[in-house]
Amino acid sequence: MNKRFSSDAGDELRFRALAAALASAGLSSWGFVSGRRFHAACGGLPAATRAKFGADEARGAVAASLAYGEGPAEPPDWAAGLEGPDLALARFARADWYGELAARLRGAASAARAAIRAEGLEPGPARAWRYLANSGLPEKPLALAAGLGSLGRNGLVLLGAGGPPEARPGPAAASPPLGPGAVLGLLLLPFDPADAGGADEPPPREDLVAGGRCGACRACIEACPTAAIGPEGAFRREACLQHWTAREGEPPAALLAVWENRLYGCDACLEACPRFRLEAGAATERGRLGPSLPAGLFLDRDDDEVRHKLRGSALGLGWMSLEGFRRSARLARARKEAGPGDASEQVFPRI
Ligand code: SF4
Ligand code: SF4
Repeated sequence: MNKRFSSDAGDELRFRALAAALASAGLSSWGFVSGRRFHAACGGLPAATRAKFGADEARGAVAASLAYGEGPAEPPDWAAGLEGPDLALARFARADWYGELAARLRGAASAARAAIRAEGLEPGPARAWRYLANSGLPEKPLALAAGLGSLGRNGLVLLGAGGPPEARPGPAAASPPLGPGAVLGLLLLPFDPADAGGADEPPPREDLVAGGRCGACRACIEACPTAAIGPEGAFRREACLQHWTAREGEPPAALLAVWENRLYGCDACLEACPRFRLEAGAATERGRLGPSLPAGLFLDRDDDEVRHKLRGSALGLGWMSLEGFRRSARLARARKEAGPGDASEQVFPRI
C-alpha cells in the first residue's frame, strides 16, 4: 500500500481523476506502469540519468503514445528562397511530435491535479508529475509494460498489436492498431497505479519483445537498405542510416551508397511494416519543418542562423550535429551536380 496517501478510497479517486484527464488529453494510447515495473526498467540506468529525469522519486508512471501520421505537408516560410536540392525528413521529424506529446501529458497532469484537489485531496507537488518524451528513460520497455503493444523486429513498438490486457491499458489503447508510427512518452506519478487499482500484476510476457508478435513477417528486415536489422530483430546501430543522419563523422561506405537525399531519419523499415498506417487526424504546428528542407540552409547559412531557424524543432536538439546535417547537404548537392549515372561513383565523395 502506498503510505504517502491516507486511504484506499483516496488512491482510487486519484487514479480515476488521472484516467479521466488522460482520456481527454488527445493521446493516441496510454496505459499505467506499476512502481515495481517502473523501477525494474529504470534500475540499470546510470544514477545521473535517473536523477536527471526524477526516476528515483517516481511511484509509478503512465506510458503514452502520439501517432504522427504523414506530418505537416509544408515547410516553414523561411525555407522559401533557399537553394536546393531538398533533403528528406523522416515522418517523426517533420514536426516536434515529442514536444507535442510532452505538452499533452503536461495538460493531463495539470487537469488531474486540479480534479484531485477539487475532491479535497492532495495531488502532490507539480514536480512529482514529470512529463517526458524522448527522454533518457527506457520508454519502449515501459510502453510494453503498460500494455501499449509489442516490440517489432524493426525495434519499434507496434502499438495496439497486442499488449497484455491484464496490464490495465487505458481506454484509448483499445482503438484500432496504430502500428509503429508514433512517438512515446512518460508521465511520472507520485502514487503507484497498482496500489490504486488493487490489481495483481501479471508476469512479464516474452512474446511482447523482440518480434514475438511479428509472426512470419520479415518485411522490415528485407526493406532495410543497410542490413541493420538482424534475422531475429537484433539491431546494429552502427549500420543504421537514422543513427548516422544526425551525427558527424564519416559513415561506413556501405551506408553512403544508399544515403540518397536523407537529412534526418529513415522511414524504410517503418513503411515496410504491414502494421504501419497513417493516422489521418494527427496534427501539430509545433516545430513544423515539413517533409524536406533545402540543402542551402546548411551550406549557405552560418551556424547561428541555422540554429535559430531550427530552434524548437526536431532538429534543434543539443546533441545533434550541424556538421552531420552539412555532410548530408554536401552529399545531396554532389549528387545533383553529378547528374544521372552510377550513383556509387558519382555521389559520394569522401568527406
Ligand atoms: S531506420 Fe533505415 S537503416 Fe535504420 S534499421 Fe530502419 S530501414 Fe534500416
Ligand atoms: S515489418 Fe513485419 S517483422 Fe518488421 S516489425 Fe513490422 S510486422 Fe514485425
